[in-house]
Amino acid sequence: PSTLLGLPVVLALDTDSDPSAAGPPPDGIADYLDPDQDPPHVVERLLSFASQRHAVFRTLLEAESQLRAIVEGISDGVMILDERDRVLYANPAVESILDRPLYAMIGAPSPLSLPEDSPSVVSFERTSGEETFLRISSIPILWERRNARLVTIQDITAERSIQETLRRARDEAERIAGLKTSFLANMSHELRMPLASIIGYAQIILEGTETEEHRDFAGSIVDSGNRLLETITSILDLTRLDAHAVHAETRPVSISAVVFEATAMLSALASRKGLRMDVEKPGGDDTVVTDPSILRRILANLIGNAIKFTEKGGVTVRIEADDEVVRTHIADTGKGIDENFLPTLFDEFTQESSGFGRSHEGSGLGLAITRRLCDVIGADIRVDSTPGEGSTFTLTIPIDQAWSD
Ligand code: ADP
Repeated sequence: PSTLLGLPVVLALDTDSDPSAAGPPPDGIADYLDPDQDPPHVVERLLSFASQRHAVFRTLLEAESQLRAIVEGISDGVMILDERDRVLYANPAVESILDRPLYAMIGAPSPLSLPEDSPSVVSFERTSGEETFLRISSIPILWERRNARLVTIQDITAERSIQETLRRARDEAERIAGLKTSFLANMSHELRMPLASIIGYAQIILEGTETEEHRDFAGSIVDSGNRLLETITSILDLTRLDAHAVHAETRPVSISAVVFEATAMLSALASRKGLRMDVEKPGGDDTVVTDPSILRRILANLIGNAIKFTEKGGVTVRIEADDEVVRTHIADTGKGIDENFLPTLFDEFTQESSGFGRSHEGSGLGLAITRRLCDVIGADIRVDSTPGEGSTFTLTIPIDQAWSD
């Protein structure tokens, strides 16, 4: 009886008739089991085996119908092709993607010629003549014991058209940015040249005239001219930085040497306001590979601001070096910066006090330029400030310059 356990079993519920009276078992049936003659435990095992098989069979059927629901419901097309590229199966999505009825496709050659590489993007013409773009993947599988291919098809026409629109918008934005750069470069030249002669002649008048009133007028022309010149220069600098037209020319540079150059340039300004200016440097080496003229401009902007926004006390530039970075702190004892203003501090055209009542002159471009210059040399810039006590700007430059320009 144990060999029976591996075979399919038919349960006959007809208890009245005697199976042996029916003669030899019909074709395909190995034997009958007779509860009256066979031992009860064999019958019991057989019945439990049959019911287990039934449960497994039901689970398999359920799993199959779930899988079918998934494959039939997804928006990607799924096709099975035989070795001669005839369609053995196609899900409903294929119908809409390939714009052909399923019944016309099954058994017929695939309307889509498969690319050699997988995945690939191909263009496909719908029956309406409209061009679509399809991403096709195919893998070999066994289907009903035959070699076949499982092909998945995604319609990426909408995605491609979005990408295309974005690419065109980016090209247009780049073209306009290029126009803006050359317009500003030309305009700056056109503005600077006449301005230089206005300032130059006003200077001559200032030096040559005896009349007090005329000296005042000429002095105002020189001051305003210089301010305008500074603003124009800043706008041009920012435009060139935004257009990535500023490149670092690097070499080993001692940070303290550049700090001394920058403070020397500005010490007269500090002493005119009665401010002290100190430099504290470490005993050891503070060499980094960087662009010294960009670094000098950054330091000059930060030290210049420190002097501009400080009325008493002074400015301390402290250099600290460790194995990885050199940090330069530019600390002042000035008016400080309100914490609400800090997040936009490095944005262009922003100033803490604005409008006609603002306390200091300036275009609000200095720190925007400074931050972009820091990006060019791979430096990090941070600020810490307490209103009424002062501000500290910290410039961090990595010693091992992994960035390159
Ligand atoms: P500006 O040309 O107006 O000085 P910046 O971009 O250099 O432009 O500075 C923007 C604003 O940031 C300044 O107007 C000022 O309000 C504030 N600021 C910059 N540096 C300091 C500082 N050291 N102390 C206090 N405020 C500062």
